[in-house]
Amino acid sequence: MQTKIMTKRYETMIGLILILLSISLYRFPSTYGVADVLSIVATIVCGRDMVIGAIKGVIRGKLNVAELITIAIIASLAIGEYLVAAEVAFIMTAGGYLEERVIDRSRRAINALISLIPSQARLMVDGEEKMLPLSQVTTGVVVMVKPGEEIPVDGMVLTGTSLVNEASITGESKPINKSPGITVYAGSMNIDGALEIKTQKAGNESVLGRMVELTQKSLNEKTPVIRLADRFAAWFTPLVLALTFLVFVLTGDLVRSIAVLVVMCPCTLVLAIPTAHVASLGKLVKNGILLKGGIYLEKAAEVDTIILDKTGTVTLGRPTIAKIIPLEGITSDELLSLAASVEKYSTHPIAQAIVTEARSKAIHIPDFDNVTLLPGCGMMARAMGRDVVVGNARYLKKSGHRRAQAALSIALTQEAKGRTTFFVALNKVVQGVIALDDPIRAETVQGLTELKTMIPNLYLLTGDNQNAAYQVAYALGIREYRSQLLPEEKVNVLAELKTQGRTVAAVGDGVNDALLLASADVGIAMGDSAAAITIDAGSVVLLNGDFSKLPLFFSIARRARAIIKQNIIVFAVCYNLLALFLASFGYLTPLGGAIVHNVGSTLVVLNSMRLLK
Ligand code: ADP
Ligand code: MG
Repeated sequence: MQTKIMTKRYETMIGLILILLSISLYRFPSTYGVADVLSIVATIVCGRDMVIGAIKGVIRGKLNVAELITIAIIASLAIGEYLVAAEVAFIMTAGGYLEERVIDRSRRAINALISLIPSQARLMVDGEEKMLPLSQVTTGVVVMVKPGEEIPVDGMVLTGTSLVNEASITGESKPINKSPGITVYAGSMNIDGALEIKTQKAGNESVLGRMVELTQKSLNEKTPVIRLADRFAAWFTPLVLALTFLVFVLTGDLVRSIAVLVVMCPCTLVLAIPTAHVASLGKLVKNGILLKGGIYLEKAAEVDTIILDKTGTVTLGRPTIAKIIPLEGITSDELLSLAASVEKYSTHPIAQAIVTEARSKAIHIPDFDNVTLLPGCGMMARAMGRDVVVGNARYLKKSGHRRAQAALSIALTQEAKGRTTFFVALNKVVQGVIALDDPIRAETVQGLTELKTMIPNLYLLTGDNQNAAYQVAYALGIREYRSQLLPEEKVNVLAELKTQGRTVAAVGDGVNDALLLASADVGIAMGDSAAAITIDAGSVVLLNGDFSKLPLFFSIARRARAIIKQNIIVFAVCYNLLALFLASFGYLTPLGGAIVHNVGSTLVVLNSMRLLK
């Protein structure tokens, strides 16, 4: 891609020099010939791609914008207006160059992300430490990271403890204590201890690598240009040709009709949308918001309803254990051990809290081999005749466990405090209840206040209990909330809202939100690094899991829409119509037309660039 921008830059520079030279040579009759040649060379330098594009279009039997511009160039050459031909070709190249530059700025923001991942990793080779290129690090390889170094891979800590700053990935600026068994991510900063990490994913496969790749893909996706050009060219090209012909028939003035042809070249129209998209992408990336395609920007500007997942989205998603309540015949530590033995196979925030707590108490966590996920309810595991279940009340009620009633009433008193609860059962007998607190994220409150001024309808959906849902909804001033939903029931709520004609964005974080995000008009993944699946399902990723960036995202989307509208209405339509009027009545020469045209295109690009600010 870098070569493309360089080629465009050289073409633009050479074209500009040649055009300026020939303009000055046209002042002296004796050098007209040289000026003509220079203009023709400039036309060839700048117009090659355009002509090739036009020929391709003709071969495929498709009308495109390149054809129109090629006709303008050829017609200008035919009537000896070489400078006009050069100008038109130059505008297209210069416009393309400006566009590439905007893309480049966005790309640089991404490169800043990439640079977070070190290119080398320290490995033990034959008993000696060696720095090897990251390309040689594969799954299962153990890498060593010293204090003050960036972590090169996604993996699990084998030995050592250290504070790690994951701000670049999760946005959590407070360093997190990492110890054996805990996952670390490429691109995070290892602060004060030495770690040995067993690689799970490296390079492009790592969470950060994937995020970078996705954004790059959306930057390179030029479909909006092609879409727009295709949409218009089908009727625009014949219309312009007819108009040109009409002017020629009415006035008998070939030069004037070519001036009309030149001003009607839809360069401004072609630039109107992609420049705005690309500039927005750059601005978004700088704020840790990744977009999978320009189309989602358009959709986001239309969103009138937002569905918010509770756990991990509006709440911190790092619950702390509030109370462990064993039933008769089991100790609190035994209950925790039992729970942790199942939870260690889960990525759910609750699971992580349980496992961390058990490890910090140095409680033995037995292994299981047969684990089943109950999405939105809990987990089930089996080993050596032991059958352990963790799950919520909804599941407990219908699963026929003994002592369920006792557990439910204990849970109820905990839930009254707004806590999340789940029960632990062994061999169909409930052993106890664990209650957790999951505080609301600090940024949520501020983010929501802003969001409410933009988007009228907010829904809080959760698989959690009614009271926890109510307390969060109440604290945040969200009137609509539903609790105890299974992942597919959340999707049903979404579908219902869509049938009411709403444009719905869904914000989620956990693995079981993937379906919801994929079904929404705009799926926004809160970039929790653990939930790579959600990142795939979402069309937008809030990289730092930073809720306060949500209003920014919608306001950029709306600004982009406003600027695209300006680009189209003010420049592509009004400005060009005025030019058309002037050209038709002979007030613009083909050269004047080309210049007016040039100015219009530049204004569009500059207007779009305002989005980068
Ligand atoms: P949310 O919709 O708020 O993200 P989930 O759908 O992930 O919540 O989970 C809903 C409820 O199911 C939780 O509040 C919890 O009670 C229970 N649950 C889900 N997964 C687990 C698990 N791994 N361990 C214990 N309880 C769980
Ligand atoms: Mg969730």
